[in-house]
Amino acid sequence: MTQASVVDLHCHSTASDGALAPAAVVERAAGNGVRVLAVTDHDTVAGLASARAAARAHGIVLVDGLELSVRWGGHTLHIVGLRVDPEADVLREVLARQLAAREDRAERIAAKLRRAGVEAPLEGARREAGEGAIGRVHFARHLVACGVVDSLQAAFRRYLRRGQRAHVACRWVSLEEGVAAIRAAGGQAVLAHPTKYGFTRTLLRRACEAFHAAGGEAIEVITGGGGPGDVDAARTRAEQYGLLASVGSDFHDPERRWNDLGRLRPLPSSLTPVWQSWPAGCHPEVVS
Ligand code: AMP
Ligand code: MN
Ligand code: MN
Ligand code: MN
Repeated sequence: MTQASVVDLHCHSTASDGALAPAAVVERAAGNGVRVLAVTDHDTVAGLASARAAARAHGIVLVDGLELSVRWGGHTLHIVGLRVDPEADVLREVLARQLAAREDRAERIAAKLRRAGVEAPLEGARREAGEGAIGRVHFARHLVACGVVDSLQAAFRRYLRRGQRAHVACRWVSLEEGVAAIRAAGGQAVLAHPTKYGFTRTLLRRACEAFHAAGGEAIEVITGGGGPGDVDAARTRAEQYGLLASVGSDFHDPERRWNDLGRLRPLPSSLTPVWQSWPAGCHPEVVS
């Protein structure tokens, strides 16, 4: 059963592909009963300053975070960084490379969409992204706005997903570089939503092994919309590799009700939470 959780360590704002501005994400989280919130936008920390101000106004704790896309073999993994110093040089350098990779990919996606007959795809996606880090969701929104498809899901299924006509690989930093940057910025690296990559059990085990070997510390055991099978699969890997356990809704949009802020199952009590060693000021069991 999903319940109100006082801690939510994974969500998105308009700084990347979320629907709400950082301050509105914080306000919604506070309204849902969250007391400790990490805002974790894709490959950027640009939303954290206004999220922090809003958190202060709503009396909740903001954990500085982000979600890095990284290359592992021919696959992309998502690594959430928690309690990072957003100003750390190593992190800034990696984020500059990630944004350049996103820009380069956007141009190549746009070229493919133009060939598929879509008008002004780059301009459209940029408009959707505003000041945020451009991503596939912005192209998907443009495709919906133009009437090319009738939902974001359909945009991914028909155009943007791997194997589809407007998919292009992105030159993300490697798993090792991503984890190292999060650690150098003083943060903890969390393997995000382990069952959402579409991996076989064997491939997921190998990904967890590589993540652990790279210095990754935690795995998301509770993720928005996941069922008991997802929790079990992540718990198995947490136990196997001695990883700490994290919880996060991966909230993007109030319309996607299955992963609303703070609507999370409880963490199995046998696991050690990622916040175990956090100071009292941001420790979910102390502040709540
Ligand atoms: P990007 O980081 O730009 O490659 O985009 C990845 C993001 O696209 C994910 O974080 C999700 O927000 C979104 N996404 C991926 N697959 C789908 C899908 N099938 N339907 C809707 N959104 C999706
Ligand atoms: Mn996203
Ligand atoms: Mn993700
Ligand atoms: Mn996410």
